[in-house]
Amino acid sequence: MAYDRDNIFAKILRGEIPCNKVYEDDFVLAFHDINPQAPIHVLVIPKGEYVSMADFTANAPDELIVGFVRGIGKVARDLGLEDPGYRILANAGPDSHQEVPHLHVHIFGGRKLGPMLVRS
Ligand code: 5GP
Repeated sequence: MAYDRDNIFAKILRGEIPCNKVYEDDFVLAFHDINPQAPIHVLVIPKGEYVSMADFTANAPDELIVGFVRGIGKVARDLGLEDPGYRILANAGPDSHQEVPHLHVHIFGGRKLGPMLVRS
């Protein structure tokens, strides 16, 4: 899938749409999800045009991959989630119900999160 430069997270990265920022460095931007599914629900996105984890891991420079993974860990730590625990999740493609076609990792925490997947 080709990267769509008009997706909502691309606009947030360019500063065209505001976000409630948690953390930013040269490699990542982290911000609160607009529709939180847990008391803490933060999204971490890499600063680059990648649709999914498959796209990112195949095509991103090593420096950005390292920076993204470090950024996810730092944000979880800084949110105080290391001791109580948390969940990270990245949707990719239609079966996962990915809504925004810019790679993002969700960080959930702040309560008992229950089973990994809800049966349907
Ligand atoms: P996905 O289903 O693609 O994994 O998750 C997309 C997430 O982005 C959803 O949890 C949704 O609430 C969040 N989201 C969608 N639009 C916006 C927005 O404009 N701002 C913020 N902060 N989150 C958004």
